[in-house]
Amino acid sequence: MLEVRNIFKTYDNKPLLRGISFSVSQGETICLLGASGSGKSTLLRMIAGLESPESGHFLFNQIDLDQTPPHLRDFGLVFQDYGLFPHLNIFDNVAFGLKMRNVPTEKINSRVVEMLDLVNLQGFEKRKVTDLSGGEQQRVALARALAPSPCLLMFDEPLGALDKSLKEDLLNQIRAILHKTKIPAIYVTHDQDEAFTIADRILFLHEGEIIRDGTPNEAWTNPKSAWTARMLGMGNVIEGVIISANKVKTEVGIFTLNCKHKYSKGERISLLLKQSERGMDEIKLKVEDVLFKQDRFQVKLRGGLVIHLKDEPKIGQIIRVKVQVECLS
Ligand code: ADP
Ligand code: MG
Repeated sequence: MLEVRNIFKTYDNKPLLRGISFSVSQGETICLLGASGSGKSTLLRMIAGLESPESGHFLFNQIDLDQTPPHLRDFGLVFQDYGLFPHLNIFDNVAFGLKMRNVPTEKINSRVVEMLDLVNLQGFEKRKVTDLSGGEQQRVALARALAPSPCLLMFDEPLGALDKSLKEDLLNQIRAILHKTKIPAIYVTHDQDEAFTIADRILFLHEGEIIRDGTPNEAWTNPKSAWTARMLGMGNVIEGVIISANKVKTEVGIFTLNCKHKYSKGERISLLLKQSERGMDEIKLKVEDVLFKQDRFQVKLRGGLVIHLKDEPKIGQIIRVKVQVECLS
């Protein structure tokens, strides 16, 4: 389906995207996860044809999109700010793409009803955009994007403007619709929870490159880099120095590595410390701060390490925690 080949983009002499390649297959939802400013929207705009890359190619079913203007690409877009036409009612908003394609009136009528049904807004045709809540507006935007049967859907932080309970609801609806329609999709976000809920595959965008590409399960099991582990909020990422074949010295103790890599003495590496009852190592540190979170205590230890406990510890108390240590490379 969509193939993104070696895309480069620079703004003001600063490289933003440095050789981005990936593909999206039929029925697949991929999620592009990256910090704010990492170039996610820019990449979507280029796929949509609203902007050109410096070099690289976008292909759809093996055909280079280079000469295809945006309106002929048949891609649907959903933005954070909905992008609805405020002067048009809901019917006309959803019908917009169909009218542009000169679809016969009767077909437009039935398609709009079908789409409003799909996004759970039956009977909303005559309503005004301004009378709808944020979540409802975003569902209209989704219906509008879906109406012309796009061959690819792109979502640019679509839940960014919604509050938490609405977010979960809408995300699950989007997920169900994508599964039902089997339209391939690219979903862009900086929120790892969203990425894990919606994605068949997550692409981690960092400093202009995709540094990890895998299913949520693969990414979680093996983040492969300090940045990915931090992005996923997996545990504590700390730095260490190799002091002998498999020993690494850190601010919070010396650990034994059991990964396949060969390190040389003096080499600096990043480690992931996961709190685990089955962990082979133990750390012993002073409690610096305690915060109650949901059903447990989030405890900050000396050295900036964060762990979770069922029982509240005292500030200043020394505690022992079993950890599992993994190298991040
Ligand atoms: P994201 O969507 O990941 O937050 P963007 O793609 O919006 O990131 O932007 C990435 C960077 O590119 C930002 O620092 C932004 O200032 C810069 N940028 C985006 N569009 C332009 C433009 N048209 N001209 C110059 N710089 C731009
Ligand atoms: Mg953006």
